[in-house]
Amino acid sequence: MVVFNAGRSPFDRFLDLSRLSELQGIEEDATHVSFGALTTFRDMEDCPAVHRHLPNLVKSARATGALAIQNRGTLGGNIANASPAADTPPSLLAYGAELELVSSRGRRRVAYEGFHRGYKQMDLAPDELVARILVPKPQGLGFHFFRKVGTRQAQAISKVCLAAYARIEAGVVAEFRVGLGSVAPVPARARHAEAIIQGAALRALPVEAACTELLKDISPIDDIRSTAQYRARVAQNVLRQMLGELAAV
Ligand SMILES: Cc1cc2nc3c(=O)[nH]c(=O)nc-3n(C[C@H](O)[C@H](O)[C@H](O)COP(=O)(O)OP(=O)(O)OC[C@H]3O[C@@H](n4cnc5c(N)ncnc54)[C@H](O)[C@@H]3O)c2cc1C
Repeated sequence: MVVFNAGRSPFDRFLDLSRLSELQGIEEDATHVSFGALTTFRDMEDCPAVHRHLPNLVKSARATGALAIQNRGTLGGNIANASPAADTPPSLLAYGAELELVSSRGRRRVAYEGFHRGYKQMDLAPDELVARILVPKPQGLGFHFFRKVGTRQAQAISKVCLAAYARIEAGVVAEFRVGLGSVAPVPARARHAEAIIQGAALRALPVEAACTELLKDISPIDDIRSTAQYRARVAQNVLRQMLGELAAV
């Protein structure tokens, strides 16, 4: 609608997906919480299983637009809109989500990481829909972190967005993923920073080394909302904040 209202949509015909029951509903089984693509931000905020297992997605939903957008906008649309500044992708990356894609040719399941191939480029054929988003339920002692930095608390597109998930085992970071928004052409994993923290003891996290490595994971730009320099500095600051909270678990 934003592109359409700006007169920049190349399309003049549209398909309304909103009543396709196959794309609706949040389901929970022993290993996953799965979301129909038409799940709204409000649906995520209202779902006890999402609060219990995937709190970063609740925070992402609350950080998206404001109430009107949260009531109407969908998780599938947030993904397929393919904005590098969208607020659920960092959490989906941190949780290791997968997508189920559907067309008249059948279904396929792909890792969400790698789905965005470049700015507004996706591993999605013209006849395919995002049908479901499958998120593994974190097991064991988990640490969850989400922070969006924008100009306001609502109706502000992210300048930097960072989500993280860590699994702690015997005082050591056994599993660690960080997803970032607004600092690269696509939602990005912080692979270099993660590698520094993975396997480290909570009492001796190499925080500054991870913040330095983070610069290899991001390629921020200057645009209408911020500068590359600000985004890089703030991404490091938010990572530092997150690691401070992780160390205190
Ligand atoms: C005022 C305003 C504020 C906003 N603030 C934020 C914000 O803070 N954070 C944020 O992340 N986003 C924000 N957005 C963007 C938008 O609301 C979200 O990305 C929303 O999730 C889009 O969902 P939708 O269902 O409305 O998708 P649509 O806008 O209907 O679709 C978006 C794109 O995805 C495609 N698409 C939709 N569903 C599917 C599917 N199942 N399979 C394949 N393709 C599909 C459509 O064809 C279209 O190209 C904002 C938008 C507005 C207008």
